Parts: sequence; structure tokens; C-alpha cells
Amino acid sequence: MKIFTLLLFLSVSIFPQSDLNKINKWQTFFEKSNFLSTPDYNETIEYFRKIEKASPYVKLIPFGKSAQERTLYVCVVSKDRAFTPEKAKKLSKPIILIQNGIHSGEIEGKDASMLLLREILITKEKINLIDNVTLLIIPVFNVDGHERKSPFNRINQNGPTEMGWRTTAQNYNLNRDYMKADSPEMQSWLKLFNSWLPDFFVDSHTTDGADYQYNITYGIEKFKNLPTKTAKFVKEKFIPFNNKRTEEKGFLIAPYVAFKGRNVESGIVDYTASPRFSTGYTAIQNRIGLLIETHMLKPYKDRVFSTKAMFENVIEFCNQNKDELLNINKEGDEFVIQNYFKNKNSYPLSFDVSDKSKPFLYKGIEAIEEDSWITGKKVLRYTGKPFEKEIPFFDDNIVRDSIDIPTSYIIPIENKYLVERIKVHGINVDVLKKDKKFIVEKYKLKNVRYGTTSYENHFQPSYEYDKIMDTVIISKGNFIIDLQQRTLGVIVHLLEPKGPDSFLKWGFFNSIFEPKEYFEEYSMEPIAQKMVRDNPKLKDEFENYINSDPKIKENPRRRLNFFYERSPYFDKQLNVYPILRVIKVLD
Ligand SMILES: [Zn+2]
Repeated sequence: MKIFTLLLFLSVSIFPQSDLNKINKWQTFFEKSNFLSTPDYNETIEYFRKIEKASPYVKLIPFGKSAQERTLYVCVVSKDRAFTPEKAKKLSKPIILIQNGIHSGEIEGKDASMLLLREILITKEKINLIDNVTLLIIPVFNVDGHERKSPFNRINQNGPTEMGWRTTAQNYNLNRDYMKADSPEMQSWLKLFNSWLPDFFVDSHTTDGADYQYNITYGIEKFKNLPTKTAKFVKEKFIPFNNKRTEEKGFLIAPYVAFKGRNVESGIVDYTASPRFSTGYTAIQNRIGLLIETHMLKPYKDRVFSTKAMFENVIEFCNQNKDELLNINKEGDEFVIQNYFKNKNSYPLSFDVSDKSKPFLYKGIEAIEEDSWITGKKVLRYTGKPFEKEIPFFDDNIVRDSIDIPTSYIIPIENKYLVERIKVHGINVDVLKKDKKFIVEKYKLKNVRYGTTSYENHFQPSYEYDKIMDTVIISKGNFIIDLQQRTLGVIVHLLEPKGPDSFLKWGFFNSIFEPKEYFEEYSMEPIAQKMVRDNPKLKDEFENYINSDPKIKENPRRRLNFFYERSPYFDKQLNVYPILRVIKVLD
């Protein structure tokens, strides 16, 4: 009690009464809880509304509805009161989008955003952070998950006292949904992203995994999934700036810790995120995306303040480098068209970590192994004792798979529902106005297999393919997508079978792998006899086929199938991917 009185006395002596009232009025739920708890959805929105009422520079804008019909909000902060994308884009100021609570149990960013907005707009101590930028903040993205709160949603996470659930009400992990866009939340987000087209994107998370000394880690795309100049800008300018500023503010920072092997000595790797993830997605939209991952074992308070420090760093950086950032994004959009469409360089779809490494001083927490009668083997226990060790950092990636792009894609009209899914990515889709002749490439898929478990509500096939050249007449009304667009990377990723997050890979076209007509053995056998009579060479081919595998040899149906597949009765469209690659327009 004595200490409390003394502290109160001290604060009264430092702040005049009016300032103290102001501070109390603007205290956040997180502060009132002694930095241990986070507000629910209604209390969160109420605080943002209060800021909106108090400041002329803020507008809280709904951008969609969740599956349970909660409103999704984005808070737009602009000194110029540029509250629409059209107005904001005219300003020549970078647009920053900060996203909180995509995994709503990882909610530091929301509490950090409230504190930061107060310092910018109410106490105005950081008002100059919005001199040269337009700031967009999503208080909570996964709003339904956020309300499924419990102290038991994240095992071993050190606060807040109650936290949201990782997935949406439909059990979608939004951070796997950027390309396929199954959820209403993601469809709304994509429309928001593509209307504002932010210059810098930040996605705030909390990670588990190995314990270490770092309070906060980051992932940022910087390989060939980004335009060359953008990647260079990230590596040479943003990363050093952000590391320095975070440490100056008293937080230990490191790249996201993913070990190459099973132990610390194997080193850590940096990898290219595929576009199902937020930052992998913004990369193929030619935009910088920063992933923030605090460590769940650190106290919630430190995690909120280190996240806030990173948000401030990004905003400071965008203020300081506003012209360069705007130019780099403009050139990045032009680069993809020039490099992949005009210069015909093949487009990189997937990446591997290279063998090249550089030394990295890792600041870990010592772990020992102890026998456990529960596991029946050893189990890891962190001792809390810090250590430092030089380990390799594999921070370069090389292209694993790439593709030569066509001039455009044709999408048959029956896939209209997919066209809607394509358009939310900001992609222009045209309708053929008259019948046209094209030289196209088709994919014929083979060796199709399925995974045995459902993943994000999809059964994902694996396959190989052959390419077939064809001349076709496409009638008016079908869809055509020109690749001379700034979204070229998104188009190629969605429509090329090799794309790790293509519609085909996600199982949107599984019906093309299903045979729908069959034969009776008694009717197929005479046809097979006739086929051999008409083409005696077929017999040798048949003999080779049945002798290749005793299982085939003993199976009458498989023997007959050899002929069925070569007969005119066989479905020519089976395993043929319906989206066509245009090589040339004939007339
Ligand atoms: Zn997360």
C-alpha cells in the first residue's frame, strides 16, 4: 500500500490533473488489466470508435462480414482525410496496411494498435508518424475466432488471460486462404487489398517452437517471388533499419527461427512463403509484406510493446523513404510485365533453400533432455539459461520450378464461379465478344493421386502432365485473361497446374479426374478383336503392356481397358485441364 501511495503521489506531481484525466479516459483494456488481458470484439470496436469521434484524421470503415456476420473493420488514418483508395492514391504518400488477429489467439497487434493510435491521434506525441503516409489498421481480421475465447486456446502461451481461436467459425485457417479464398473473410480482405493496393503490408502473429532469447522475430519476402528492385530494397534498406530500431527500443530481434535439421547446430533457414500465406501473397502482388512473430513464452506485455515497436518502425521507414518506396512499387508492377511477358523469362513458381550460408550468432535458451515415463523416451526441458552460439544461417533461396507463360488463358464459361474467385484478386477478366481461332496448349494430367486427409476443406491431388498443342475455335461468351497485367504473378499461380496454390492443386477441378462412362466386358471384347484386326501392330503393344506387370496380365478388365482407352468410346476430356494456354491468336 505504501508503494502504491508513493507512486500515485509521484504521478500527480508529474502530470497536471487534466492530463491525468485524459490518460485515464484513454487507458486501454490491456493497460487497465495490468497488461494481462485483451478486450473482446465489442470493446475493441468501441475503443476505435472513440478515437474516430475524437480525431478528424480517422475513419472506421466496414469492409465485409464474417461467416457469423460480424462486421470486419479497417481503421483508416490520414492527416489529409483521404478515407477512400481514390483519394489516398492521389496523395503520393505510401499506404500501409497493418493486419491483426488473422490467428486471433495471437492478438498483440490489436492491443499495440490501440496504444499507437492513442499516441498518434490523442496525446499527439507521435502525430508526425502520419505526416507522409496513409495508415490502414485491421483491428481483428478473424473476428469469429476472436470471440471463441478461452484461457486454453494456445497451449503454453504466456497470456493474454483469455485468447481467441486460430481458425474461423467455418474452421478455415485464414493464413492458408489467400489464393483459394474460400472464406467470406478472405474474399472481403482481397477486395480491400486490391482497392487500396497498400505499399507496405504487416501481418502480426505469435509463434511457438523452440525457446530462445528473442522477444520478436520477423519474416519478410526477399527472393525471386518479388520484383528484383523490391527484394533489394527490403534486404539492403528495410531489414537493417528495422533490426537497428527494434534493438534501440530494447527488444531482441532475429529472423524467424526455423531450424534446418533437428537441432540448433544444423542452423536456421530463410524460405520463400508460398502465396497461400499473407506475405507470400503480397509478394506476388509486387508488394512488401512483413510477418511479425513474437514468442509465445514471453510475457504478453513485452510481446505487445515489441509488436508496437515494429509497427512504429515500419511507419517511420515509410515516412522516411516515401518517394523511393512509391517508385519501387510502380516499377515493380511494370517489371513483372516487362520481365515475364515481354522478355519471356520463365516465371518462378517454387523455391528451395540454397546450400549457401553465412555465420549467425544465435541467442538461445539452453535445453536439456530428461527421461519421461509418459513419452517412454527423452523429453526436452528448457532451463531458462541463455547461451550464444555461432550457427549457419541459410538465407538464400533458389528457384525449384518455373514456367514459360502464355500470352493469355482461356477459361470456359462453365467455370463462371471460378472467374468470380479470380476477380477478387484484382485481375481483369474479359469475355470473348466474337468467336475466335487460337493456337493453344492443353494440359493432360497423369499419375493422379490424392492425399488421404482433408486439408483446409480440400482433398488435394498430385499429378504429372503432358502438354498438347491444338488449334481451337472458342466461341463468344467464354472468358479470356490477358497476362499483360500487374497481377501477372497471381494469374500464373492460380491457373498453372504446377503452382503450389493453383486451383488445380487445391482440388477445385477434381471432377475432371473422374471417369463417368464404363464398358461391359462382353461388349468391349469384340471391339478389341476388331481393333487388332484393323491394326495388327497393336497386338505387340498389348503384349508388352500385359507382360509389364503380372497384376495386369491376370486382370481381364485391365487387359480390356488397354483397348477401351484407344477406342473412340473413351472420354477424350478425362484428365484434360479445361483452362487453355493461348500461344497465338489466329483470327
Ligand atoms: Zn499465426
